[in-house]
Order: sequence, then structure tokens, then C-alpha cells
Amino acid sequence: MLVNYLKQTQELFGDELYLSKTTDSHEKNKNAKSDLEIFCKEISECQKCALGATRNKFVFGVGDPQANLMLVGEAPGAEEDRLGEPFVGRAGKLLDKILAAIKRSRTQDVYICNVLKCRPPNNRDPLASEVEQCEPYLLKQIAIMRPKLIVALGRVAGTTLLKIEQPLKDMRGKLHEYFGTPLIVTYHPAALLRNSNFKTATWEDFKWIRSILDN
Ligand code: URA
Repeated sequence: MLVNYLKQTQELFGDELYLSKTTDSHEKNKNAKSDLEIFCKEISECQKCALGATRNKFVFGVGDPQANLMLVGEAPGAEEDRLGEPFVGRAGKLLDKILAAIKRSRTQDVYICNVLKCRPPNNRDPLASEVEQCEPYLLKQIAIMRPKLIVALGRVAGTTLLKIEQPLKDMRGKLHEYFGTPLIVTYHPAALLRNSNFKTATWEDFKWIRSILDN
């Protein structure tokens, strides 16, 4: 995994090695907005995997470039593919409400993106080969933004980022780490739309998330 990471970062950054910040020197990148814009331009015509040919819009990410909280979903769905913005469908509307409950919004201290930047046909799960091609883009977004906390939304985002095969309930409630950045896994908002029983646990997770951000 480390070799893979080094290869990925070399592909993105060249031979310069970017080490992640330590928790006591959590310094933000003042140029994050323009760095993200430049990076988005660089990759938005990507054809590294077959999804490049079927997408309508490349879904880079949206939000506050200085955000402490980065939310990562699995991949764009139909609405996201149409509009070029993550989490704009029904699940996205619910996510906006959850963010409001922790006194944040998609433009205020939050950045939202996905593991895959292009929509898989019929919303199937991302293929390992697609993740391998696309994950370096997420790594670079993280390197630019230096979020304090990453929250993976849903089992697929959790397992693809953590490279573990576990049910969501086993990944929840733990502080994981993703290449040096603390990471929490919680329910995907679409799961809450399907089963409102998950709402209590999700609210517990977001109270915990808020306490980490506020400390
Ligand atoms: N589901 C995701 O995982 N990401 C989106 O952007 C929308 C729905």
C-alpha cells in the first residue's frame, strides 16, 4: 500500500515528497482555492478509465477550500453527472440538512467530493481499477486542502479508502487514518433515506464530528 501511495504521489507531484502535517501543526494552505482550481482544470478532461467516455460532467468537488471537514462519497450519481456537482440529488439535500445541524454548510467549513470523479453506469459500485486511477486525485485534493478530518460517507467510500472489507457498522465509531489525516466512516445519506432507523446513529456520528472540528 505504501509503495502504491508513493507511486501515486510521484505521478502527481513528481519527485518531491509531500508529507502530511502533524496534528500539532495544522496549517492551512492559503492558496487552496487557486490550487484546487488549477488542479481541477488539469484533470477535468481525464480519460484514464472507461468512465471518461460515458460521463456528462466531471465532478471534481465543491465547497470551502479552507474547510476543516472533507466529506467523501463514493461516486457521482445521475444528477451529479448532469450538473457537475457532488451530492445534489435527494441524498444531497439530506446531507445539507445534516450539515446545517452542525452549523455548517457546503460553502462553510465543508468540502464535498467523491472517490470517483465520474459516474459509473447505472450507479454500480466503483471497480478496483477505477479507484486505482482516480484515488490519486483525491489524495492531491487532500494535500492541497489539509482538512482536519475526512468523513467517508457510506460503506463503499469507507472500504475503498481504508482498503478493508468490513460492514459499515464495524467501521463506524472509530477514528481511522487516511494517509495521515483522521477519518471517520458514517452512513451514506441515501441509506438514511432508505432506512430512517440509521438517523440516530448518524446524528451521534455528526455530534462527534462537530466536537473534533470544534476542538
Ligand atoms: N452519492 C455519492 O456517493 N456521491 C454523490 O456525489 C452523490 C450521491
